[in-house]
Amino acid sequence: MVLFDLSLSGSEKIKEDNQSDWHYLCYRCKSHIASYRDIFNIPGKGSTHYLRNTFGLNFHVITFINCQNLLNVSSPFEEYSWFLPYSWIVTNCRYCQDHLGWRFVHEKSQPAEFFGLIQDKLIIDYRE
Ligand SMILES: [Zn+2]
Repeated sequence: MVLFDLSLSGSEKIKEDNQSDWHYLCYRCKSHIASYRDIFNIPGKGSTHYLRNTFGLNFHVITFINCQNLLNVSSPFEEYSWFLPYSWIVTNCRYCQDHLGWRFVHEKSQPAEFFGLIQDKLIIDYRE
């Protein structure tokens, strides 16, 4: 069982409240995917991650606790997970079907799920 201290990311969110109007959109179809307040800081690891998969491809991944307009397009896989004990599920944009990242799930952990999205597949929308 993994326990994440969500209160830590909460205090950081208050500190950076001036950025709370950032929204992350799908780079291709501009669908709303997440808000700045949805960013998830994994304790000791932060919210931005430079990761490499088994094919040698590098990804700059941002972790979110909550996302919208994503579609699961695979079964959960435990093998090669970047965030054990979480399994990963390939997630695409619901509207344009492009691959945006992965959903990480482990029902005995807290949180039971979070999302890792590829930074290059997102654009930031600043709303005044
Ligand atoms: Zn899209």
